[in-house]
Amino acid sequence: MTGSVHDVVIVGGGLTGAATAIHLVREAKTPLSIAIVEPNEQLGRGLAYGNPEADHRLNGPGSRHSIYPDCLSHFHDWYMAQALDKQDPEACDSSGYHFTRRYDFGTYLNAEVRKHVAQNPSGSDIVHIVDRAIDVVKKGSLFQIALEGGDIVSARVLAVAATPGLANIPPVLSALPKNGSAFLPDPWDTDRLRRIPKSADVLILGMAQTASDVTASLLKYGHTGPITLLSRRGKRPRRRPPLNANSYVRDSVPDAEKHAQFIGPDLTVKPPSRILQELRREAHIRADRGESWVPTMEKLSELISDHWHTLPMAEKMRFLRHGKTWYDVHRFRLPPQIESRIEAAQARGQVSFLSATILDAKPNGSRLNVSLRERAKRDVTTRTFDISVNCTGLEDRLGQTNNPFLHALIARGFAAHHPTGSGFDVDICGNAIDAKGHANQALFIVGPLTYGAFADQQGSIFILRRVLRVLPEILRKAVAR
Ligand SMILES: Cc1cc2nc3c(=O)[nH]c(=O)nc-3n(C[C@H](O)[C@H](O)[C@H](O)COP(=O)(O)OP(=O)(O)OC[C@H]3O[C@@H](n4cnc5c(N)ncnc54)[C@H](O)[C@@H]3O)c2cc1C
Repeated sequence: MTGSVHDVVIVGGGLTGAATAIHLVREAKTPLSIAIVEPNEQLGRGLAYGNPEADHRLNGPGSRHSIYPDCLSHFHDWYMAQALDKQDPEACDSSGYHFTRRYDFGTYLNAEVRKHVAQNPSGSDIVHIVDRAIDVVKKGSLFQIALEGGDIVSARVLAVAATPGLANIPPVLSALPKNGSAFLPDPWDTDRLRRIPKSADVLILGMAQTASDVTASLLKYGHTGPITLLSRRGKRPRRRPPLNANSYVRDSVPDAEKHAQFIGPDLTVKPPSRILQELRREAHIRADRGESWVPTMEKLSELISDHWHTLPMAEKMRFLRHGKTWYDVHRFRLPPQIESRIEAAQARGQVSFLSATILDAKPNGSRLNVSLRERAKRDVTTRTFDISVNCTGLEDRLGQTNNPFLHALIARGFAAHHPTGSGFDVDICGNAIDAKGHANQALFIVGPLTYGAFADQQGSIFILRRVLRVLPEILRKAVAR
């Protein structure tokens, strides 16, 4: 493989990388040679859609997840055609929406890639290089990407769809033995999760989706001991308003509706702080009327995704400092199945939520002593747990990752940190901007690592819409041989 030259090399073959390849070969007018460098044997799964754990469900209905944003029912139709609903009766919520296993969505993504590898409208080649990129240099007009296995693959255009993975373990816990019985650093290590004694007193670090997945799984395995979810701010996903058959009637918010509310009289987007204020008011009014606040949230997420790049840096920073937590807890809701299981356990006193900062954690025999200070309290208390599970989420700060390829992009001068501190700096076309402020026309960054530039690049539909916007530029560059 060393010496192979491709029109486009995509590093990272999760949802973003797989979708980029699929849309490229569908849109290209002439055959392209595309390589995807991804260590996972199955393209499309990435971090979110590879664990077969039954309780890891999509956080929105299957009918809102699709690799084709202009055909939102595509995954749902595939799912029903495969009769996967029969294998997972719990997926169907009482309102008739399917909150499917994330693994099933990964199977769909993988099937779509395989379909396009076998045949595609432009007659392009897609090869999967099962390896990890570790370095990149430029030779003439080509990127040369060094792989862990020793090969080098060359690209006219490089598209980075890799992510740093799990966040680092909080420093206060980093000295704990990773394989000891009192600390589980990887929340997706289902084998170890299943081996936690049923009566154990469990401390979950985090309160968001991964923490909820782990809690729901433990409860399903028959856990009887107490489970405490801890985070500094104590913010957890807001309860999903009751769904009904009309909860998701719109595939997207019409532009006119967004613009009427968010574009000021001078035809510029209002500052996000003001938009947030207005939307919070709207959400309260809806709630008072007994209506769902979800449509309000959908307007906000579409607006953020459409206009973020036009906002002044000071406004972006203000939103990230003051609005993001509020935004995230409303935006990333839990699947109803998970939500109700956790709520039932909370009602019987088995699950509790603690807003506190951990000051110290030390082994105590086979257990763990944790010193913590609860929010708005002065006293430090020490509690003993049998095990702590790290569910602090994904890393978006490139400086914190140990992914050598992502470091190399910066160290070699091809890309730079986004000024917000979140991901890479990219221009509106998705081109990486280097430390000197120059856009690198042959280097594209797509997916969650463009959060600073485009915000909300976590939900699959928002990622895919952005991929589609960047696609013409990738194609233009790839065919300009
Ligand atoms: C637990 C969890 C649940 C989620 N649930 C939902 C949901 O229900 N609905 C939704 O819309 N979104 C959900 N998301 C958001 C999710 O981020 C996106 O939907 C999607 O997974 C992002 O895909 P990605 O390909 O960009 O990143 P990833 O899934 O992180 O994939 C990145 C890929 O890059 C590869 N890689 C990394 N470094 C290298 C390297 N050096 N060389 C080669 N390959 C490399 C990795 O192996 C990985 O496969 C969830 C996310 C998580 C983490």
